[in-house]
Amino acid sequence: MRRARRAGAAGGASLDDAREVMRRCDVLAGISSMDGGIERVYLSPEHARANAQVAEWMGAAGMRPWQDAAGNARGSYPGATPDAPVLLLGSHLDTVPDAGRYDGILGVMIAIAVVRRLHANGVRLPFALEVLGFADEEGVRFGRTLLGSCAVAGTWDPAWLDLEDADGVTMREALAAFGLDPDAVGEAALDPATLVGYLEAHIEQGPLLLDAGHPLGVVSGIMGAKRFDLTMEGAAGHAGGVPMRHRRDALLGAAQTALAVERVALARGVVGTVGQMTVGPGAANVIPGRADFSLDVRAATDADRDKAWEEIRAHAVEAAGERRLAFTERLRHEARATSSERRLSEAVEAGVTAATGDAEPMELLSKAGHDAMAIASLTPYAMLFVRNGNGGVSHHPDEVVSVEDVALAIDAFEAAVLAAAQRVQDGLSA
Ligand SMILES: [Zn+2]
Repeated sequence: MRRARRAGAAGGASLDDAREVMRRCDVLAGISSMDGGIERVYLSPEHARANAQVAEWMGAAGMRPWQDAAGNARGSYPGATPDAPVLLLGSHLDTVPDAGRYDGILGVMIAIAVVRRLHANGVRLPFALEVLGFADEEGVRFGRTLLGSCAVAGTWDPAWLDLEDADGVTMREALAAFGLDPDAVGEAALDPATLVGYLEAHIEQGPLLLDAGHPLGVVSGIMGAKRFDLTMEGAAGHAGGVPMRHRRDALLGAAQTALAVERVALARGVVGTVGQMTVGPGAANVIPGRADFSLDVRAATDADRDKAWEEIRAHAVEAAGERRLAFTERLRHEARATSSERRLSEAVEAGVTAATGDAEPMELLSKAGHDAMAIASLTPYAMLFVRNGNGGVSHHPDEVVSVEDVALAIDAFEAAVLAAAQRVQDGLSA
């Protein structure tokens, strides 16, 4: 195994690699459907162009590039033997509307940079590497997240083919227009028996590394999330004519619930957000007869999350009772909390230590979802977080990483892959 460079500061070659990674993030940022901003959604012409560009970079890095049945960009780098198992590296290439240029993209570019180094040095590992640029993580077009990684994990649901985008185009139609066979998407799935695990580098979508002064962090797990559509129904009426005490104001029940979300989340150490609310009929002189609002709850464990939701629901029911409203709930989305695997995390930790000289790298729990959540049902995972240079701003054009941090991230990710190789080697010879 190659010795790590001087710990704590990336060398000139690493900075060159980091500049190239940043340049590639800029190139992909230019492949956008949005004027003056970044937007790249699943099965769009921009998705195809991004895949073609990424395939070119994968080929130049010594990989065999290909596109799978779900539209994921993939690149294979052989191991020391033809029957070697596979270590997956990756993240996503799609974006939210008016996105930053690093969320997802950075992880794919770092993975390619690492394979490029191994290839340049003629290194073959006891496992093959496969870099995955997932086609859909954000779920912007069809309202269902993690489509690319679910296809690879073997959890693709054919019922999703009937989901429609904002223009009424079904996923089935979009896949066909993209040149893919809608009934063959499941073929993107991998066999867990052939895999070592999955490593993902990602920009931190929070401020913790920046606040603590660490360029890199090791992810201990990803919070489980539940998302609900909630409704309060009362009675619309004249804003002048109906006395205050006679009102059944749906907005007030919803607002009371939103305040309870904050109280419960603070008390229980979870996060809860009401991010959408529409009030009907929606006129300045009409009492709101109906309020539809969303709730997103996340916690370190599924049990913590569910307890918080039960308490929030009790407050909602109470608010509805006081105000003579009808409260209804619908679960829109659920993702289980996942933990990174200890041995792979130790490899990432060793990588961070080798790159930064930090003997005890900072550990973080991810509150944002990542492809690793979907891949967790296929194979163990570990993740590396790269410091967000702008106080955690993400899903926003002002998302920033520094070239120095990216250089350390490439060094750490490479060292993590080599540490994982050492562990596989030791395991094989033990
Ligand atoms: Zn992401």
